[in-house]
Amino acid sequence: MKYVLKTSAPQKQAFDLTRELNPQQIAVVQAPPRELLVLAGAGTGKTRTLIYRVARLVAAGCHPERILLCTFTNRAAREMVSRVEGLLGVDMRRCSAGTFHHIGNRVLRRHGQAIGLSPDFGILDPEDARTLLASVITELGIEALTARRFPTPKVLASLIGLASGTRQPLEKVVEQHALKLLDQAGLMTKVAGRFAERKRAMNVVDFDDLLGSWLRLLEDPATSTVADELRASYDHVLVDEYQDINALQGALCDAMARDHRSLTCVGDDAQSIYSFRGADFTQIAAFRARHPQADIFKLTINYRSTPQILALANRSIAHNRSQYPKELTAVKPPGAVPAVIPLRDVFQQAEFVAQRVLELHHEYDMPLARMAVLYRNHSHSLELQVELTRRQIPFTVRSGLRFFEQAHIKDVCAYLRARQNPQDALSWVRLLRLWPGVGAQTAEQLATLLAQAGRDHATSAQRLAEQAALARGRARDALTRLAELWAILEDPALQNPGDMIRRVVERHYGEYADRNFPNAAARKDDLEQLAGYAERYPAASEFLGELALVQGISAENVLGAEAPDDMLVLSTIHQAKGLEWPVCFVLWLAEGRFPMATALRQPSDIEEERRLFYVAATRAGDELYMSYPVIEETRDGPSHMLRPSKFLIEIDTQPAVFDRWQIEEAPADPVPG
Ligand code: ATP
Ligand code: MG
Repeated sequence: MKYVLKTSAPQKQAFDLTRELNPQQIAVVQAPPRELLVLAGAGTGKTRTLIYRVARLVAAGCHPERILLCTFTNRAAREMVSRVEGLLGVDMRRCSAGTFHHIGNRVLRRHGQAIGLSPDFGILDPEDARTLLASVITELGIEALTARRFPTPKVLASLIGLASGTRQPLEKVVEQHALKLLDQAGLMTKVAGRFAERKRAMNVVDFDDLLGSWLRLLEDPATSTVADELRASYDHVLVDEYQDINALQGALCDAMARDHRSLTCVGDDAQSIYSFRGADFTQIAAFRARHPQADIFKLTINYRSTPQILALANRSIAHNRSQYPKELTAVKPPGAVPAVIPLRDVFQQAEFVAQRVLELHHEYDMPLARMAVLYRNHSHSLELQVELTRRQIPFTVRSGLRFFEQAHIKDVCAYLRARQNPQDALSWVRLLRLWPGVGAQTAEQLATLLAQAGRDHATSAQRLAEQAALARGRARDALTRLAELWAILEDPALQNPGDMIRRVVERHYGEYADRNFPNAAARKDDLEQLAGYAERYPAASEFLGELALVQGISAENVLGAEAPDDMLVLSTIHQAKGLEWPVCFVLWLAEGRFPMATALRQPSDIEEERRLFYVAATRAGDELYMSYPVIEETRDGPSHMLRPSKFLIEIDTQPAVFDRWQIEEAPADPVPG
């Protein structure tokens, strides 16, 4: 029997473009479906224009499932698609919208058989991939061969990912990003090959493969029939945030659009901030080179920010040489002049933000969710998180985990906890597991033993030394070193928690971080920040008490206590891409922190840091506050002065684009009643 299923043919609904878009934007929306690039500055409506282009295609009869929309996050994709639904009143659920990874997954489920993947393939998340890499390393006997010099699975995984994303041989990537490991490159390539074999045998792919295998399917002559079929299932490809795609993703866009040539890309080279992941704003230039016939569109009207904020952003980005020059004009009426606020120290900086947020909230009815605090580095939000907690201002941390919930912070705090309270078996387990040669079971046994210490007046250091004597191999070395470290930590002369953190990092954790985190430098930076924060407390117990408080609040949220609807947003600038808030604070604009000294490895890096500043400033609609602490206290040396960021100094010319605020301190108003 034949049964006809009526497809929900998109109803054509007229919507009036001229009321929603300006003529530049309309030109993009109505451009014939060919390769086209919209190269335009922040807040000019690139994302909005893309939404309307999709809507127009659907309104003109294109079925949603024949549209491929690539975005930076799946959340952004959902928002865009639901805007289209709102405009047209059609069901857009079958539109292929999402990140490249998300779409790659779908493509491979349908067509992966051509390259030997059965449709039920499994996906290794990054942690699984590292476990498999570790097993390959053991299988090839590499640990025994090279001992310490071979990279950890984590570092190796990120290098393999970079090679895949930039479409370069692994060796080249090692040369560019991990020169110290170059003598291991041959072995690393061997591991990578075996790793790929193992994945194939297990019918699994990792995140890199979701893109890599997709491209292979499209490019391999042996699978050309399937590739044609895949290409033919879409009529249009549209890409947001094109400046942050890598070479592999650029190739995917081209390959998918090869036949119909309807490829709409929008981006802003001034906002390219992911080069550390292999994204490369020269992809924009590469696009023009690959598609010389492509139409290039510009959008020059900014709808997001006041003219004052825009003037500041424009003046800053003009210092970048390798940028397509763009001047933006604002449509918003003039507003407040952006403020630069030097503050005594980080604590005063946190107090300033908290007070100003409350003022805007209570006196000007500004919802908390319409304000954001942005920073270069996750660790820059540390004091603020404590201050907000203390004042009970609800906040959400968009940049992933709250500062104190990150693995490296918890690892080091476990040392302080176990020292403070040797009965804390959980902390013992956590820190013991960090040592090579100490497995889960040993850690549990040792923790139980150590948690009983004190009863016979033996110190933990003595206990550890005893256990070291009983152990063998790597565990023996590890426990011996741990016992030495513990003797230092238990020394009554050592009372300051900041110093304790430093000893732990020097004697163990720094090395651990080097071996285990691809971003070890940033993690160690965090830990130094943590030490600087902790040293304010006279004793570890007080520091740990404060920490428990901050964590208690977040645990409450996890446990389902109602999260308030209206929350201040805290985010790294990287995570704030594409978003906007009427009020933005940018913290820590001190030289060395933003631009971040350790991020400046090559001369071009300062331009990437400046783009990051540009992204931060252009998130703000009406008010922009940029602050930095003037004095940084160090306990051992004299406290030293911090200089304002060069990003502030270089724009401090006439006519002024910011106002410098001077902070005076006054006693708080008495609480009424
Ligand atoms: P970014 O570079 O930060 O990603 P963008 O170029 O994608 O920014 P959008 O986020 O699309 O810019 O738009 C910025 C703001 O301006 C949004 O609030 C959007 O709704 C508004 N906007 C854009 N174009 C218009 C217009 N023609 N009329 C009214 N509002 C507009
Ligand atoms: Mg956008």
